[in-house]
Amino acid sequence: MLDGAASAGVAAGADDHCAKSRLKTDVLVVGGGPAGICAAIAAARNGANVTLAESFGFPGGMATAGLVGPISKFNFGGRRVVGGIAWEFVERLAAQGGAITDLPKGNVPFEAEVYRRVAREMLEEAGVRCLWQTQVCGAPELAADGSIRAVTLSTAGFLTRLEANRFIDCTASGAIVGHHNFGGFRSEKGKAQPLSLCFLLGGVDTEKAHVLVRNDNERSANPVLRAALNEAVAAGRLQSFGGPWMVWGSTFRSGFVSVNATRAEAADVTDPLQIAEATERMRRDIPVIVDVVRKADPAFRNAWLAQTAATSGFRECRELTALHRVTAAEFASGEDVPDAIALAAHPMDRHIAGSTGQSLTFLQHPGVIPLSSLISAKCPNLLAAGGLVAAEPAAFASMRVQAQCMAMGQAVGTSATFSLGGDVRRIDFAAVRRLCENQGAITKWKG
Ligand SMILES: Cc1cc2nc3c(=O)[nH]c(=O)nc-3n(C[C@H](O)[C@H](O)[C@H](O)COP(=O)(O)OP(=O)(O)OC[C@H]3O[C@@H](n4cnc5c(N)ncnc54)[C@H](O)[C@@H]3O)c2cc1C
Repeated sequence: MLDGAASAGVAAGADDHCAKSRLKTDVLVVGGGPAGICAAIAAARNGANVTLAESFGFPGGMATAGLVGPISKFNFGGRRVVGGIAWEFVERLAAQGGAITDLPKGNVPFEAEVYRRVAREMLEEAGVRCLWQTQVCGAPELAADGSIRAVTLSTAGFLTRLEANRFIDCTASGAIVGHHNFGGFRSEKGKAQPLSLCFLLGGVDTEKAHVLVRNDNERSANPVLRAALNEAVAAGRLQSFGGPWMVWGSTFRSGFVSVNATRAEAADVTDPLQIAEATERMRRDIPVIVDVVRKADPAFRNAWLAQTAATSGFRECRELTALHRVTAAEFASGEDVPDAIALAAHPMDRHIAGSTGQSLTFLQHPGVIPLSSLISAKCPNLLAAGGLVAAEPAAFASMRVQAQCMAMGQAVGTSATFSLGGDVRRIDFAAVRRLCENQGAITKWKG
């Protein structure tokens, strides 16, 4: 019988579960995408007890669940600018037949299935406790000094309280950074880069098709298909599109291409109504795009929809309010700074809201990513990496790609372990840089 008393009993039962169910760890990494994988491995290899909480049942984030690829970008001017755990990871992928690592521009096409396996192996070897299908939800609990004491985890709707000494937000959307004024939205309303829902096509004549990245070409859109998609928009069949970029990305098997072509806007991808509407719209657009490309290019005549990503991909959302926000000018200058922890090689690649286009500014030197852009200005035990780095939109448009997110992850994981028990804002940044370099990271361009 459901009366007032019984309802109260149900609510108390739910609270009891959270109260009884508690976990503790030195370092909590939230989000197991490219940044979070490397953060967790680095923190654990440097000696901390590490827990990783990830919403999906596997690692990889946008690389696996979002079918986004290739892993960009390891090279500048033909020379490698990202080393450390990121490079070790792609070499291990290649050793298991899951990546091509020797393309001159340093883009790495991969197999998403092998990616999941290798990432899990490396996390396990490092001793990371991985909590799959587990989300951090709600505002973190704070201590009197403003540090984070605990977060709430939700697994299949059941809550667990987890206490940690360091918290690393690698969710790209800001599961921690979005609370207590720890961060804000990167771009003004209406100016954020659009979302895309990627998919895989099988049955493509990949010998004849204009497949980008197979020979490491520039990632320009396919012009024939672009014209056909523009016609579909003019005819009212399709709402919008981007590119289309038909790539060897999250797969590189003969006959298959990864397609990045849908496009939608959402000012806040953490608003359930906005993300639902944008995702539904892109799911409706996919069959139309498949139909258009089959008719427009003989190489795609027999193409079939092999897989749609489990999640739509957003290119930007929130960012950490960090000790330093990288400006577009300092990033483009490529000048070394004492706390440099990673280099960026990808162009400033900004997809334009409300259009089908992309603005590309090529770098003259590798951009520099400082550790201070990954450490909270407001909280003594909060760090972030990947999609949450503090940077102006133009600088972020280069740093946002996977190899750079992985390098940032290594730096924050190392910093978290290095600073255990103290205030992360006061650590010796130069010492962290040296430690990362000793562990393979490349932080200085010697061009
Ligand atoms: C359409 C599109 C195309 C792109 N193309 C390329 C490309 O060609 N090459 C390239 O290198 N990069 C590309 N990128 C960028 C690439 O996706 C990012 O660089 C990369 O995914 C960022 O890594 P991350 O770890 O910061 O975040 P993500 O990959 O987004 O991973 C975040 C993880 O956090 C998890 N998570 C979120 N919230 C919670 C929570 N509350 N609790 C627990 N877990 C949570 C998510 O499930 C996810 O696994 C593209 C992005 C998009 C959107």
